[in-house]
Amino acid sequence: MIRIESEPWAAMVAHARQTYPNECCGAMLGTVDEDNKTVRVAMPLQNAFEGAQAARYELRPEDLLAPDKAARERKMDLIGIYHSHPDCDAYFSQTDLKNSCPWYSFVVLSIQQGEFHHANSWLPNFDQSAAAKEELSYA
Ligand SMILES: [Zn+2]
Repeated sequence: MIRIESEPWAAMVAHARQTYPNECCGAMLGTVDEDNKTVRVAMPLQNAFEGAQAARYELRPEDLLAPDKAARERKMDLIGIYHSHPDCDAYFSQTDLKNSCPWYSFVVLSIQQGEFHHANSWLPNFDQSAAAKEELSYA
C-alpha cells in the first residue's frame, strides 16, 4: 500500500488545481518498508507534452534525473509519479499504461470543475498491459 503524508498530499492537490484544466505531473519521494510505501515529498514537474495538455501529460526520462537526485540527497527513493485527470475519473488510461514503468506507483488525481474529487494509485505490470489498483491513503 501507499500512504501520502499531509504535506506532499496538499502540494499535489494544489498543483493539480493550479494546472486545471490541464494535466499536471510530478514525482513522489519517500521511503519503502517491504510493501508499505510512504510519500514524504512531492516534487511538481513540467508537463512536457507539446499538444493539448487537457488530456495528456508527458515526462521525458531526463525529467526524472532531478527528482531521483533529490531523493538520494534526502536518503529517500523516487517511489512514484502523480498526474491529474481534469474532469475525468482517476482511472489508468491506455496512454498512461503505455508510458508507465512497473517499478513506480502511479497516483492519479481526479479534478472535477477545478476541485479535487478522488484519487487512485496504480501499479502497472511488466509488459504494460494492465495496472492493478494499489491501496492508497492520504491525509
Ligand atoms: Zn492519465
